[in-house]
Amino acid sequence: MSISSRIAFLKEKLPDQVKLVAVSKFHPAEKLREAYEAGIRIFGENRVQELVAKRKLLPDDIEWHFIGPLQKNKVKDIAPFIHTIQSVDSLGLLQEIDKQAARQARVIHVLMEIHIAMEESKHGFTPEECTEILAKKDLLSAYRNIRIDGLMGMATFTTNREQIRKEFHSLYNLFKELKSTCFKDSGYFTELSMGMTGDYEIALSEGSTMLRIGSYIFGEQSD
Ligand SMILES: *Cc1c(COP(=O)(O)O)cnc(C)c1O
Repeated sequence: MSISSRIAFLKEKLPDQVKLVAVSKFHPAEKLREAYEAGIRIFGENRVQELVAKRKLLPDDIEWHFIGPLQKNKVKDIAPFIHTIQSVDSLGLLQEIDKQAARQARVIHVLMEIHIAMEESKHGFTPEECTEILAKKDLLSAYRNIRIDGLMGMATFTTNREQIRKEFHSLYNLFKELKSTCFKDSGYFTELSMGMTGDYEIALSEGSTMLRIGSYIFGEQSD
């Protein structure tokens, strides 16, 4: 199957309001262009250098999302153009994004990454840490150059579907709770980014608003 027919297949399955992020890490710019021509406008990358290089080769109306671990000292390299940073896992990173966005006179959208998986290796805040940060009075007004759009999480890499469902369900509950408390008076905090190639159907049924799909669209890593 071609990239465009895979995208068409996915789009058919997606409810209208659910966004599709095409995760293009490791894949060459020509493949991204194929996806672009098939209608994709949101791409996800997880390495700064690779993202900066590919961006130059592709159209300007792409919304780039950063989805991997991000060092604070690299934020300035993507601040001029990044649309959303989905992988915010510390208060320090949040502050740095705000600072660099201010320098560019931009607003950068962010998602708070929550650690829901059993694997230690995965990143993110615990639900308690995230709640504590977002509940801080004046936090949202102090950072004028970021907009906290919601949460992102990755389930455990397992064949146990019930485990995955439980993890997505707990992320959904946290999302709802934060939305109705910390963000009750704002129109923001509308995105729940969960679901990848192996688990997106479960994620959709658990309330995902944004899928991050890589290998289904582009195949396994290509060189
Ligand atoms: C690679 C990656 C994806 C996409 O994974 P696939 O299984 O290839 O769809 C989604 N989210 C994050 C954070 C990733 O690093």
